[in-house]
Amino acid sequence: MIVILMGAPGAGKGTQAEYLTIKKGFKKISTGDILRRQIEMGTDLGRRIEDIMNRGHLVSDEVLEQVLKQELAQGEDVDIVLDGYPRTIPQARWLDSNKKIAGIFHIDTSRAELVKRIEGRVVCGQCEAVYNVGAKPPRVSGVCDLCSGALKARKDDSRDKINVRLDTYERETEPVLNFYRGQGKYFRIDGNKGAAEVSKQIEDLLLQISL
Ligand code: AMP
Repeated sequence: MIVILMGAPGAGKGTQAEYLTIKKGFKKISTGDILRRQIEMGTDLGRRIEDIMNRGHLVSDEVLEQVLKQELAQGEDVDIVLDGYPRTIPQARWLDSNKKIAGIFHIDTSRAELVKRIEGRVVCGQCEAVYNVGAKPPRVSGVCDLCSGALKARKDDSRDKINVRLDTYERETEPVLNFYRGQGKYFRIDGNKGAAEVSKQIEDLLLQISL
């Protein structure tokens, strides 16, 4: 089955996608991670999208379609969790015409909470594990618990970029929620709750949609 995690930057989609990967054997497709890897590897695509991403804007639907085509082709018989896709109506339409979606889990979080979380976020440069200096600190400051990689803040997690990204989310991605609400596969989860509580709700919903 394919499930989608939706929610604004900082809602905890990455954390929950990681949870589903480790605990439930899902394959995670995180478009943000995939695009950041292209930048780190210095590919043509990476060079084209670096500035767009660092400014907090969305990469084009055409680029995302190529990325998704490649990723979805590799995982025909596994459960998939999409983290960060779709983010626009054309992306949602493309996905709908290519794959059957079992559920959309919307992690709905207040803007004040999102800003607080993003400002405290640090990510492992090696394995992409996500920490929060307030709510989920690593055991040793600046070092990943899982692989001992160095932790750093993302370039687009600065205060000015956070507001651009949250505005973009409200303008481009909130309409996608309405698109799915109309299909009866949409489930809202209170994202102001802690990560464990959100994971529990996602597990309950997975049971519900697989019945
Ligand atoms: P994320 O890690 O999900 O917050 O994504 C980081 C950045 O990657 C976004 O701000 C966009 O610039 C780009 N990005 C990730 N997913 C998408 C998408 N589905 N559509 C357009 N841009 C995306």
